[in-house]
This record gives sequence, structure tokens and C-alpha cells, in this order.
Amino acid sequence: MTATPKGETHEFRAEIRKLLDIITHSIYTNREIFLRELVSNASDALDKLRFETSRGTAVADPDTPLEIRITTDKDGGRLTVADTGCGMSREELVDHLGTIAKSGTEAFMKSVADNAENKDAASNLIGRFGVGFYSVFMVADKVTVTSRSLHADAAPARWISDGSGNFTIEDVEGEVPRGTSIDITLKADTKEYADPERLKAVLRTHSNFISFPILVDGEKT
Ligand code: ADP
Ligand code: MG
Repeated sequence: MTATPKGETHEFRAEIRKLLDIITHSIYTNREIFLRELVSNASDALDKLRFETSRGTAVADPDTPLEIRITTDKDGGRLTVADTGCGMSREELVDHLGTIAKSGTEAFMKSVADNAENKDAASNLIGRFGVGFYSVFMVADKVTVTSRSLHADAAPARWISDGSGNFTIEDVEGEVPRGTSIDITLKADTKEYADPERLKAVLRTHSNFISFPILVDGEKT
């Protein structure tokens, strides 16, 4: 861990470096599933927020509607997936986006090892297992996660990575709404995901049963 005035740089754990290497270097047929993973995480975070509210926890921004907002910047080749869910503290960003806790990912890594001689197998396995948040690096050159935890006094923080060996964590000055906003700078050959129509089609295919409103550029889908 290196402390800098702006923030601190952490190395990904070895198993994540390996996973990211597979994700960024395999040949994919189905990269669009990254959106399913981000939307599913947003939905989980909203569920968690709703649960905390129902058990009487005093949450930040209690009047903010529970929803998922996707915004596109076609010219800039970027997109943002934001939710008003439970959010993450600085420590949670490090813990949850720096280590693999998922049993599914372990199974994925094992299958990749078992199929080590077959490069195509890895990309099929990514789709089958769903490698969660890290699948964003199938389409992203750079990912910035800005988050504020649901707790009323929580300080916002930011996680930044290009999906290579490390990620940076920094504090965020100023007002940040409750929840998580994931800003994606797309790769040269994945700019199609900054097209709202393309995103709506992917949502129809993979995120049809999400119970919270999903808005693309402010419009309900
Ligand atoms: P999984 O969803 O199976 O736990 P992921 O790799 O998709 O695995 O996500 C890892 C963890 O990161 C989640 O369990 C959650 O704690 C955290 N996380 C990811 N996205 C969000 C989000 N939008 N809001 C709050 N926490 C999130
Ligand atoms: Mg997930």
C-alpha cells in the first residue's frame, strides 16, 4: 500500500490479478453481460437499503427514491451505472472490490485451471459463472466507483482502477448522494455500450426481472 496525497494504491490480491488477467485477455463473445452484473449488484444494494430502512436504521437521504440510473456519454465513450442503495464506505470499497469472497468465482477459477489449454473455454465460462463486478473490465479501460454508505454520517470515497495490478482509493470532497455510482471509460472496441438503444436492448435480454426502476438517460425502461 502506497500513501499519496490524493489517496492510496492497493495491489489486488493474487487471485484477483489472475481473474482480471483472464477477463482482459480472453476472447469474448458475450461481453454485454457486464451490465447484468452491475445492475444485479445495484439491485442487491437497493434491497439492502430497503431492509435497513424497514428495521429502523436511520439512513442518509431517506427521501431519495430507490432506483438505478444509467447515463451515457456517446461522444466521450463513457457510461455510468448509479444506484441509491446501501453504498460502500472506504473500507468496504477495499474489502468488497479488492478480494474475491464469492464461491462462484472460485468455481470459475477452478474450471479455467481445468481448461487451461483451451482459451475459448475461459470466455464461455465467464458467461456461465458470472464473475460479478470484475466483468466490467471486459468492456472498460478505466473504472471509477464513487460511493457513500447508507449511514447518515458516512464519508464518501472513491475506488479507481484500470483492471491491471492495482486500484486506488481516495476520499471525496463535497456532496455525494447515498449509494454507488460506477463510471466506465469504454475500450476502443466496446463503444457500442455508450449507445442508449444498445443498453436498453441488453437490459431487456439480461435484466428483465429487476424489481427497481431502471432509467437510461433519465427515461424509464
Ligand atoms: P456478488 O454480487 O456475488 O457478491 P460481485 O463481484 O458482483 O459479487 O460484488 C462484490 C461485492 O461488492 C458485493 O457483494 C457488494 O458487497 C459490493 N458491491 C458491488 N456493487 C455494489 C453496489 N452497487 N452497491 C453496494 N455494494 C456493491
Ligand atoms: Mg454481483
